[in-house]
Formats: sequence, structure tokens, C-alpha cells
Amino acid sequence: MASGETKSIELFRVAGVQIEVDYSWLIIFLLVLWSLSAGYFPQEYPGQRTLDYWIVGFVATLLFFASVLLHELSHAAMANRLGENIDRITLFIFGGMARLSGEPKSADNELKIAGVGPLSSLVIALIFWLISSAIGQVGSLWTAVFRYLAFINVALALFNLLPGFPLDGGRLLRAVLWKRWDDLPRATARAAQWGSGVGWGLIGLGVLEIFGGALVGGLWLLFIGLFLRSAAASGYQGMIVEHALQHVRVSDIMTREPMTLAPELPVGEAIEQYFLRFGYGGFPVVSDGCVLGLLPLSQVRHCKPEERAHKKVQDIMLALEPSLQIGPQASAIDAIHKMNEASSGRLLVVDAGKLVGLITRTGVARIVQTKAQLESQAAEV
Ligand SMILES: [Zn+2]
Repeated sequence: MASGETKSIELFRVAGVQIEVDYSWLIIFLLVLWSLSAGYFPQEYPGQRTLDYWIVGFVATLLFFASVLLHELSHAAMANRLGENIDRITLFIFGGMARLSGEPKSADNELKIAGVGPLSSLVIALIFWLISSAIGQVGSLWTAVFRYLAFINVALALFNLLPGFPLDGGRLLRAVLWKRWDDLPRATARAAQWGSGVGWGLIGLGVLEIFGGALVGGLWLLFIGLFLRSAAASGYQGMIVEHALQHVRVSDIMTREPMTLAPELPVGEAIEQYFLRFGYGGFPVVSDGCVLGLLPLSQVRHCKPEERAHKKVQDIMLALEPSLQIGPQASAIDAIHKMNEASSGRLLVVDAGKLVGLITRTGVARIVQTKAQLESQAAEV
């Protein structure tokens, strides 16, 4: 997703992988719980007590999300076994997400990491189906629960196998094309086109369902389709950025000798003489050659106009901490990941306590764009 500011709750860690749920996940949890307890189970197995429907509904919902989590964990386990890095799994409104912190190192790695997800969903489906057969009594609510879970895991595997990047199937497609063409950007572009196409397909199906009277299911497909389209586009963008910035270091693209503020400068003067004059989104704060912190525009905005005359830069700046700084030898891609996490969109480049430069999100974006333009020109010639 484009925004790095989604709010999520960190749950627990499994084998070094942090599991977290986005707040949007609560919506889908309640929706699944409600549709199972008040819709699916009463319809399939009528004549039971309402409370029983809600109990099995709750258990089925929990096991459903445990299945989603296991699917994502299988991606993470495979990635980490291959020396790629997935250290975070997020459950959100459209399911689960186990993101690599960069592009996979090879097409074979991508095949294995993407393929293991649907495969484990099918194994989970088989296990639930065996349990439902073992319980046996046809018509029992618990048989229904495990049969539903078997069915939903098959559905999960099939949905994820749709050949649209960044779904697993789209990643498999990309890996195959990557192997054939030996050209990651071209393979990603094609797989992302398919992702966009699959997105349109889901939107179309959703609209048909809505006209057919299935409002909730239809809206659901529609939103998943929209999400997939934007994920395909941003996944492609992310790959282009990583590709352009391969082997680039922070020191190659940072702004050297950036303009700095003195810590004792009143906020009002900083606004007049720096922010309004140069239009930058933030300035490093430096005293006697030592870097103390960063004053981004967002901090200035929070300072009330009547306080701007007597408050000083050092009173409202963000004090220097690891999340605000990076070394000149670090890779530009690491800088981007760090900037995406920091709200200020800029990092101080610090070497042995001294400020040596400044790196900003917009600055990096400009360089990526320039590189892309130069490369496309070279290709035209
Ligand atoms: Zn998957």
C-alpha cells in the first residue's frame, strides 16, 4: 500500500517474524463472523440454537484467520530459509501480507516463495477435510465447520493463484517470465499488467453481483479488484525504484552541505528566514559542527502562532535518534525503507557525529525519474 501510516497492532512473534493486524482487519473479522453465524451455518444446518451458531461461527472465523496466517507464514519460512528476508506479516482487510523487504534475489527463489503459499493452503484444506470426515456425523454443526474450512482454504489457494501480480499466481508468472527473459523489469511490467487485468475482472464480477442482488459480496469483489490494481501499480513502481537504485549509496545522491538551523534560533525567525524563503520541508539543527536533530515542517505546524516568538528551534525539533539518521555508506534502498517509516520524509546523513548531508524522499524520487528517463532515451536510440 502506498501509505506508510496505516495503524496496526503488533500481536506476537513466530520464529522471528512479527505478526501484526491492521485496524481494518477488525472489520473483516466481524464481517466473516457475522456472515457465518447469522448466514451460512443457519442456512446449511437449520434448527440449531442461535448461541450454537455464534459459537461455531466464532471458532470457524478464528480458524479461518489462522489458516490465512499459516499461508503467510509459509511464505516467510521459505523466504528466510532461502536467505531472503520477510520479518513481518500483516493481516488486513483483504487478507494477509508477507512482504519481502526487497525484490527476491533470483527467479527460482521467487518461484519457491510464491508457490509455497497456495500449496500450504491446499494442505490445510486437506487436513480440515480429513477432520470433518473423521467427525463423521452428517448434519452436525462441527462437521459443517471443518467442511467450510476445507472449502475456504481451497478457495484461498485458487484466488491466490490468479495470475495477477502481486498475488502469488502473478509472482509465479513473473518468475517464469524473469527466467525466460532474464529481465526483471520487463517481467514485472508484464505480470503487473496481468495484475491490473485481474483487478478489472474482479471489479466486473463485483458489479455483476451487485446488480444480481448480492450487495455485500459484490462490493467485496469490487474493492479487492481496486486494491489489486493499485497494488500491481505500486509493486511495479517499487521494483523500478529498486532497480534504478541498485548499487547506489547514500553518499552518491545526498545533498551535501545542506542549509542548517542554529538551536537557539526562535521558531518565528526560522519560519521567516528559512521555511518561507527556501520552501524546504525541513532543516538539520547543528551547533558547533555537531548535529543535534531535525526540524521538519510538521513540527513547526504544531507550534501555535503565539508561541513562535519565544519558542526556540531546539524546543520543538526532533532530537537526533537512530530512526532519523543514516550513514553515507548505507545503500540508497535502505534509506528509502527508513524514510518510509519516518514521517518527516528525510534523513540526516551522519558520519562520526558530524552532519555530512541530507537525503529526502522527493530528492530520491527525482533521481529515480531522471535515471528512468535517461534509460528510456538510450533504449529509443
Ligand atoms: Zn500467498
